[in-house]
Amino acid sequence: MGNWEAVIGLEIHAQILTRTKMFCACDAAYGAPPNSRTCPVCLGHPGTLPVVNGEAVRQALKVAYALNCRVRPESRFARKNYFYPDLPKGYQITQFEAPLAEEGRLGIEAAGRALEVGILRAHIEEDSGKSLHEGFPDSDRKAYLDFNRAGVPLIEIVTAPELRSPEEAYAFLRRLKQVLTYLGASSGRMEEGALRCDVNVSLRAAGSAAMGTRVEVKNLNSFRNVERALSFEIGRQRDLLDAGQPVVGDTRLYDAARGATLSMRAKEGADDYRYFPEPDLPPLRVTGDMAAEARAALPELPGAKKARYMDGWGLSEYDADILIDRLGLALYFEEAVATCADPKAAANWVTGEVFRVLKDGEGDIGELKAGGRHLGELIALIRSGAVSSSGAKDVFARMIETGNPPGVLLDEMGLAQVSDVEVLGTFVQEVLAANPGPVEDLRSGRARALGYLIGQVMKRSGGRANPEVVSRMFRERLGMP
Ligand code: ADP
Ligand code: MG
Ligand code: ZN
Repeated sequence: MGNWEAVIGLEIHAQILTRTKMFCACDAAYGAPPNSRTCPVCLGHPGTLPVVNGEAVRQALKVAYALNCRVRPESRFARKNYFYPDLPKGYQITQFEAPLAEEGRLGIEAAGRALEVGILRAHIEEDSGKSLHEGFPDSDRKAYLDFNRAGVPLIEIVTAPELRSPEEAYAFLRRLKQVLTYLGASSGRMEEGALRCDVNVSLRAAGSAAMGTRVEVKNLNSFRNVERALSFEIGRQRDLLDAGQPVVGDTRLYDAARGATLSMRAKEGADDYRYFPEPDLPPLRVTGDMAAEARAALPELPGAKKARYMDGWGLSEYDADILIDRLGLALYFEEAVATCADPKAAANWVTGEVFRVLKDGEGDIGELKAGGRHLGELIALIRSGAVSSSGAKDVFARMIETGNPPGVLLDEMGLAQVSDVEVLGTFVQEVLAANPGPVEDLRSGRARALGYLIGQVMKRSGGRANPEVVSRMFRERLGMP
């Protein structure tokens, strides 16, 4: 970066997971036929009145406390006025001067650096509808409007300008999504527009306390694109500054196909929106009971979980990051550990075999018929020598399809491992007698022959012999160390 330091702040909009919209009773779920989930309130008909969705407030409060914010006992809704076809009322109900929550922080780790990122504010607002610019026979001439999303509850979270690199921005978004999904406050699904992010970035002389001119980039539909757009934008601004030219503080769009940001418009200021208090809604009061209820509903959060996995259970940061990314997976893993008391083995199984069947972890853990407890039992069986690790993989495959306990499957599938030296002794004796060549090789120090001999026992035992015990028996009988 030479002499320049990047300064980055993020604005995130997350759809709050509720059954109905923010101010009316329309269904808020994604994916219904266009304009099938609308009513006079969310279509902005004159004479209708908004009613606050209590569930949205409860969810937003959980988010506020999870982000360590100070919650206002009384916040206010405001009207943000602008004209756009997807905004039926001509204004958006949001919070402006007195937001629900302020002054929070969220801990992240990026590139070996742990930092607490300041949260400037978190407030509740409603979403707009959607303009559809493609997919119709006359899309070259017309845009269509879908108001299903109009009035859906959002929480907007604004960070302090404390991020210093695209990697840190990426790490922040990933952690924030983890928090939101742990809370059940948002689905976090970017592909459904349930999580959206705008970035603000400026450069300043390294070590300076002054702030450079800020550029805002919109239209970022994945965390990777946030990272890419920031890298591009930092490079663009650095080239300008190196050439002695000023950065223009505009609003830009990220063009993913070109990997570049393009100027969209001059940055609008708050004055442009003629904010004023929403006259149809009373102040939003958060009582002591509501606050206590929200706090009590917080689960162990991803940062704390990660620290516990690493410090308490000795997992690597790599494994811990994978395991905490989704709460369902983390709880599955914890259940397995509770049963087998072997965190490292459980981590290997979950990041390995479980991830494979879940298609790199993208699938739903709830679809597996066997829970974490069964996995723990299976790991315990491997540890006690009752099943080989390759046999255990077969048991696992059956277990997640049938939901039967691994002990039962082991017998059913005839995979119970044989560790009994008397039973194995017969095989070992036979193999020694039938393979004088390899035995001689082994005696004269060619260790590879041992693998061959063990393989012969495995064959004779139908794969059920415990290879460690067999190995020990060969060594003993041949007088090896
Ligand atoms: P808006 O974009 O609606 O005008 P704000 O002025 O509150 O809202 O700023 C939004 C975001 O811009 C915040 O995340 C903040 O941290 C970030 N920000 C403010 N100043 C700068 C700057 N000079 N460089 C980078 N980011 C900045
Ligand atoms: Mg902004
Ligand atoms: Zn409605």
